[in-house]
Amino acid sequence: MNIERISQPFTKKFPGDFSNNPMQRNTPKVVFATISPAGFDHPELIAFNEALSEEIGLGKYEEKDLNFLVGNDLPGNIQPYATAYAGHQFGNWAGQLGDGRTILAGEITNESGKKTEIQWKGAGATPYSRHADGRAVLRSSVREYLMSEAMYHLRVPTTRALSLAFTGEEVVRDMMYNGNPQLEKGAVVIRTAESFLRFGHFELLSAQREYKTLQELADFTIENYYPEITSSGQQKYKDFFENICTRTAHLMIEWFRVGFVHGVMNTDNMSVLGLTIDYGPYSMMDEYDLNFTPNTTDLPGRRYAFGKQGQIAQWNLWQLANALHPLIKDEKFLEDTLNLFGTYFWENHDKMLCQKFGFDQLQKDDEEFFTNWQALMQELQLDYTLFFNKLEKLSPDTDVAECFKQVSYLPLDQEKLGKLQNFITAYQKRISLNLISGEGSLRMMRKANPKFILRNYLLYECIEEISQGGTEMLNKLTKALKNPYEEIYPEFSAKRPASYDDITGCSTLSCSS
Ligand code: AMP
Ligand code: MG
Repeated sequence: MNIERISQPFTKKFPGDFSNNPMQRNTPKVVFATISPAGFDHPELIAFNEALSEEIGLGKYEEKDLNFLVGNDLPGNIQPYATAYAGHQFGNWAGQLGDGRTILAGEITNESGKKTEIQWKGAGATPYSRHADGRAVLRSSVREYLMSEAMYHLRVPTTRALSLAFTGEEVVRDMMYNGNPQLEKGAVVIRTAESFLRFGHFELLSAQREYKTLQELADFTIENYYPEITSSGQQKYKDFFENICTRTAHLMIEWFRVGFVHGVMNTDNMSVLGLTIDYGPYSMMDEYDLNFTPNTTDLPGRRYAFGKQGQIAQWNLWQLANALHPLIKDEKFLEDTLNLFGTYFWENHDKMLCQKFGFDQLQKDDEEFFTNWQALMQELQLDYTLFFNKLEKLSPDTDVAECFKQVSYLPLDQEKLGKLQNFITAYQKRISLNLISGEGSLRMMRKANPKFILRNYLLYECIEEISQGGTEMLNKLTKALKNPYEEIYPEFSAKRPASYDDITGCSTLSCSS
């Protein structure tokens, strides 16, 4: 791998002086701290993403590169660092946080000039680790490695994953926070993104009233990641905020399209580039449920439930608006932009649903149709993904009851089957109003509706297998997730088996990782 091509432009631009007190937590005037990864004596490679490595300019993997993949024996051109950020967690100001178990190696530029940041996750503690160990366990590392790639191939904006390796070390975790700590295998993922900057980076500088550095960070972000912004003065920061709102709305709609629930939408987990970031207790949704949250910590309030993600994104953008206010200084603009987010979100959300249903354009009764559909999905506990796959295959001869029974998690009685039949009749009537051909409509549906999603139970099986030294499931899932709009392995395009209903790690997950 071309590790010698990694450099650290970010640290050249910002104040970062931590050498005197590496464990200091409150860091006025400090944006990053340079550090050394923990180092692991017996690393072992589990998976490497060759295509991504080539794409970003890191080239081919050789055995000697394993050290780099876990942060060992780094060459002189790499000066690892961790950044400081803050955030609102579960609706409350959490103060200073920071890269607690992620360490940045720097940035690499590929032959076409595209820049990519490279980050280890689980490679050791940083000054922002607070009381935690900076390590990551196998299960959460496999989940991040596979899901971020699955999202990429679903065409959802996301950070990506380059490698997954055992550290050879064991880590203590109390998975359900119930007083049962256990030793688990440690692992390191290398993840990549154009940038890992979060809302929280701006919130920290604003809260500390370091407006000069705040402005520099905004300028840096705009210059490097928002080349489309050409304005200056206050307008430049207005355009910046507006662009973040648009990208975030787009991201939320994509999450709704594929049925992704992030689970911890704290502002420190919100990317200013509109990427899915920090894969923790997330889940793809099996049965359609607007109230579904995979995160056990979120169960009391269901703040981060599937159906609330648009609203929460808007709340998070509100916090970002507050943080950027010293640069924008225009409350009315910020308020109007946040209100526009709502309008923009719903308009595009409905357009997205039209694509899933194969409707050529939004018609006046469609909103009512969508509301009825949601109620039906929820009541009949229909599988979100498989429902649309069945809809694609619907023909005048389809036995509706038989067809949709297969994708419900409930036994469907006559009353429920009657509701289903009525809905399908309404759907067929609506689709007959399309101005495009049946083929055109089907093409649209096939593009919007995945045939393979990385369900939690599949990840669970894969993690069990890797813990025991196997890789068959890992290889199959890697292949399937690269082609999510095709059905490569029919057994993966079925609903969750009942035996997984109440297994921790399949229906619910904790933040412990
Ligand atoms: P998360 O919920 O994963 O987004 O993490 C919230 C904050 O806790 C972030 O600042 C993380 O860096 C930090 N954190 C989580 N787990 C660990 C860990 N094992 N070691 C150090 N910091 C951690
Ligand atoms: Mg996080």
